[in-house]
Amino acid sequence: MKKVIIVGAGTAGLASGIRLLKDGFDVEIYEKNEKPGGRMFRIEEKGFQFDVGPTIVMMPELYREVFEYSGANPNDYLDMSLLNPFNTIYYPDGTKLEISSELPSLIRQLEQFGPAETKGYLDYLSSVYERYQRVKNHFLDKSYRSAWGFFNPKSLYQAYKLKTLNSAYTSISRFVKDEKLRQALSFQTLYIGVSPYSGPSIYTIIPMIELLYGVWYIKGGMYQMTKALERRFLEMGGVINYNSPVEEILLVGNKTAGVLVNGKPRYGEIVLCNADFPYAMKNLIKDESKKGKYKTSKIDTMKYSTSSFILYLGLNKKYKTNVHSIRFAEDFKRNIDELDNGTLPMDPSFYMYSPSQIDPTIAPNGKELIYVLVPVPNMQKGKSEWTTDEVETYKNLVLNKIEKIKGFEDVKDHIEVLKTFTPKTFNYKFNLEYSATFGLKPILTQSVYFRPQNKFKTIDNLYFAGSSNHPGAGVPIVLASAQLACKEILKDHKPNE
Ligand SMILES: Cc1cc2nc3c(=O)[nH]c(=O)nc-3n(C[C@H](O)[C@H](O)[C@H](O)COP(=O)(O)OP(=O)(O)OC[C@H]3O[C@@H](n4cnc5c(N)ncnc54)[C@H](O)[C@@H]3O)c2cc1C
Repeated sequence: MKKVIIVGAGTAGLASGIRLLKDGFDVEIYEKNEKPGGRMFRIEEKGFQFDVGPTIVMMPELYREVFEYSGANPNDYLDMSLLNPFNTIYYPDGTKLEISSELPSLIRQLEQFGPAETKGYLDYLSSVYERYQRVKNHFLDKSYRSAWGFFNPKSLYQAYKLKTLNSAYTSISRFVKDEKLRQALSFQTLYIGVSPYSGPSIYTIIPMIELLYGVWYIKGGMYQMTKALERRFLEMGGVINYNSPVEEILLVGNKTAGVLVNGKPRYGEIVLCNADFPYAMKNLIKDESKKGKYKTSKIDTMKYSTSSFILYLGLNKKYKTNVHSIRFAEDFKRNIDELDNGTLPMDPSFYMYSPSQIDPTIAPNGKELIYVLVPVPNMQKGKSEWTTDEVETYKNLVLNKIEKIKGFEDVKDHIEVLKTFTPKTFNYKFNLEYSATFGLKPILTQSVYFRPQNKFKTIDNLYFAGSSNHPGAGVPIVLASAQLACKEILKDHKPNE
């Protein structure tokens, strides 16, 4: 039986492992950390269960698909429920917008802006739905081995029809005039680490997916998905080695031969790398001549997504808020431009996640868990080194903002646990180049055919699945990346030959 070695037990690594076991391969994972999940990690302290990275569950069918593919019932692994309202947006003038995928509630909220704006919003949904179908059918489900796969008349026609050359914000502005609605429908590009003012308009599909397919909650938090993937992988006979950083992807000529871990070779005919692509290219492939177009000099000049500064608060008091909420900065445009030009925002927009509002398993009885994410520049652009003093100052800036929220005035007196993840933490914990928490920036020149593909061209038997590879970042999208990488392996290999 052919052996596949997977580098990394992140979402895409585990999902690929399950698929490959089902396909009949022998699979072994090497993971640098002490437990699985990668960015979908967990910190546990004093009974608080903090999800580290992802929190918003979209496209639940992709979460379920990997279990179905393996022959299992996803309901035996995940308990998912629809959230409504799924997000509350707070504007600096004190107003708010509750976003719901339940049509009557949504319309009630929109009609505050008048019938013309409500119609504009509905027109946006219908137009973007059509573009989404095109993306799904022509680009998301397909990987590219050759230029012809993309540069053929059919694909080029579909790409042209996507009309993706303007920015997300400009595209939304055609449908709604009110600045608050424009922001509410374009800020979601930040979910993949790109500015709504410069990110391609195709990412306006994100709020459409939230609205039409819903935002879901997994009981026990996002880490349940990690635990479920790990459980399924082990049940199927897979092997995972934790605390086992891969030092090198071994090559014999132009072929992979396995990996080097703790100075020892581990042999396998096929290597699937889930460690983030830019890091892997720079550090795990030692021979520059084998890297094709992804030499170190190119990796350094590629464009990277934004980073994140996160406070994880365990509070010894109950606070009333929503599971997901966003608070916009006074000057949203300036705040976003700062992320692009490398300035640390002093009046940042931020996102709050409080699963303990609806899930008693997340925090001890009578206590609240709050996760506060502030988008900040990555370390390619940003000037901050995230020294202890800088972290302390920024932490206080964020806490000062939280205590200004109605009902949170005494928050500083009730902190039982306080943890931070800075860009630097993301860099060393998960090997994210330039601390870009969403990997390579999804601009047009780094998307679809132009994103690093799932089969590596210049080294045989080397494949990639993850955020910086095709199709891109986000838990459902890296699950799709795993599907594509495994299909590429099956095109080249039979498990028993
Ligand atoms: C703060 C934050 C918020 C997010 N919010 C959302 C959200 O709400 N919804 C959503 O869908 N997505 C969200 N995302 C994106 C999503 O988390 C990621 O796209 C996805 O989890 C990435 O999975 P992955 O498998 O590509 O990579 P990773 O999770 O990074 O997995 C790669 C694995 O490889 C391991 N590794 C690296 N180097 C080595 C080595 N040398 N040897 C062995 N192992 C190695 C790493 O430790 C890691 O476990 C968020 C991400 C972040 C950081």
